[in-house]
Amino acid sequence: MDLPKTRAEAKACGATHYFTGVPCSRGHIAPRKTKGACVECMKEDWAIDNEKRKSKPKTEAAKAAGKRYYEKNKELVKARANARPAEERRRHKLAYKEQNPDLYKALTSVRKRRHRDATPKWITADQKLAIRQLYLSAIRMTEITGERYVVDHIVPLISPDVCGLHVPWNLRVITQTENLQKSNKLVDTHAPE
Ligand SMILES: [Zn+2]
Repeated sequence: MDLPKTRAEAKACGATHYFTGVPCSRGHIAPRKTKGACVECMKEDWAIDNEKRKSKPKTEAAKAAGKRYYEKNKELVKARANARPAEERRRHKLAYKEQNPDLYKALTSVRKRRHRDATPKWITADQKLAIRQLYLSAIRMTEITGERYVVDHIVPLISPDVCGLHVPWNLRVITQTENLQKSNKLVDTHAPE
């Protein structure tokens, strides 16, 4: 390492860090900040502070500040969220779901009703089973690949032109990404000129 060996040396040359090679009081052998402590100690302290902050419920002021930040930096916040590892995104989504149970109950019941309304009376037990298999294979594909798979209605159940049915031959298993691209395209196609 090319860092100065002492704080005095670091100060003299204006370096932000120095490295003595001697363990700190917590036993880290790590660079130290010229105007601070061992960088590993600082990381530990930040982690403790973060945990403390997260375990406390957010104040109204903090919530409002978060909302204002989001409104100002929507694209950045979304890009950052999408850049997170899949595992982390899943965790966040689950946490959001747990915090908003009513919203998710409502969404599920809307989806169920939409499927029921789009299922023809003449559907057979075998066809119902085939639909179930598709949903199970989406779950399996997600587990195997780590990428989220969903069941897509090839002709959408709700579309301006024609309404699709909730039947096996109108269903296919595709990735969430493909599904989102499709819905964007549909929105584009039907956008006013
Ligand atoms: Zn340390």
